Amino acid sequence: MASRNETLFQRAQQTIPGGVNSPVRAFRSVGGTPRFIERAEGARVWDADGKAYIDYVGSWGPAIAGHAHPAIVEAVREAALKGLSFGAPTEGEIEMAELICELLPSVDMVRLVSSGTEATMSAIRLARGFTGRDAIVKFEGCYHGHADSLLVKAGSGLLTFGNPSSGGVPADFAKHTIVLDFNDLQQVEDVFKARGGEIAAVIVEPVAGNMNLIKPRPGFLEGLRRVCTQYGAVLIFDEVMTGFRVGPQGVQGLYGITPDLTTLGKVIGGGMPVGAFGGRRDIMEKIAPLGAVYQAGTLSGSPVAVAAGIVSLKLTRGQGFYEGLTASAQRLAGGLAAAAKDAGVAFSADSVGGMFGLYFADKVPTSFAEVMVADKERFSRFFHAMLDAGHYFAPSAFEAGFVSAAHGEAEIDATVAVAREVFATLG
Ligand code: PMP
Repeated sequence: MASRNETLFQRAQQTIPGGVNSPVRAFRSVGGTPRFIERAEGARVWDADGKAYIDYVGSWGPAIAGHAHPAIVEAVREAALKGLSFGAPTEGEIEMAELICELLPSVDMVRLVSSGTEATMSAIRLARGFTGRDAIVKFEGCYHGHADSLLVKAGSGLLTFGNPSSGGVPADFAKHTIVLDFNDLQQVEDVFKARGGEIAAVIVEPVAGNMNLIKPRPGFLEGLRRVCTQYGAVLIFDEVMTGFRVGPQGVQGLYGITPDLTTLGKVIGGGMPVGAFGGRRDIMEKIAPLGAVYQAGTLSGSPVAVAAGIVSLKLTRGQGFYEGLTASAQRLAGGLAAAAKDAGVAFSADSVGGMFGLYFADKVPTSFAEVMVADKERFSRFFHAMLDAGHYFAPSAFEAGFVSAAHGEAEIDATVAVAREVFATLG
């Protein structure tokens, strides 16, 4: 008899392209049937067949406090009872903006939107409006949402599908996007020397999480800061994934770099649709209604989403929150690497704060090219064996993984113990 997951997947494909509302959910790169999730709590999700999984996807980042955290759910309930949306300003939005500005010293002013894509798309438009220049620099394998000018050599879902870019993006748009190699500062310097006066912004995932997990080489982010300042370009840190995930001040806090603009999402919504972009006051004042750069949203600053976001952010400020998260991710990465070594499998793992990368390769990659040579076939076998045993990793070799505050040593150790058996079968 077909499982409910299979039945639902068949049904979904009749009316939803590929049966999913975001491509990586379809399991295309690993094969098999996606699990349809019925509910989640803490570190676990349950699928339509009632099977439980320890979850290392965490809704792709937002579930940092654990799924269905009671304080977040209660805040959502209370806000919903007062009305779902007004299209007029609310006090909650101020509280959220004040929290973000207080937590991130680089952010003087912030605008709330409903997704990470909107945040990056708006930040790019703002940078162009502010500088009066058209070109932008991005790095291969970094994903910044699906706005046209950013869908050029982007990561994760697009890597999984083997499309360097996307259909439907006019060459006339893409030509304004200069794509360079992540961690190669020389290329950045060369391009600015040649075309510095045309470049509005450099946008970067300061720790890249959409080509698995790649940390910046020493000096890379510092160099971007220096070059942008020298040529009057706007430095945009896309911290949609890393913001409040790798530490209390994102990557900018960890590395001590001040970007001009920051984009946020995921954690700041606590599971509800919230994104944000913010930064230097003189740049942010160019946004409508103060300035000439237009940006808007019917549901922007939704009172229900903002209520969830405020609680999510406040939970991350708890005593020892990031120490716990960091220790869990390290325990997992270290445990998996040791288990693979014992089994003689070429594998490495890395983590930063509550985010980790798993690589079927001898050493942790530092470039897009190195990530691409990892063994995808072995990853798929690992993924499915873990999934069957109740451990849910991201269904792609190019995605970072996430732990939450609800992942205790018991959960991590259970996953490592199963992985030890799985690695032994992968040889
Ligand atoms: N930027 C980064 C770094 C991301 O990881 C993502 C989503 N994974 C986005 C932007 C786009 O965010 P959203 O999916 O909310 O549109």
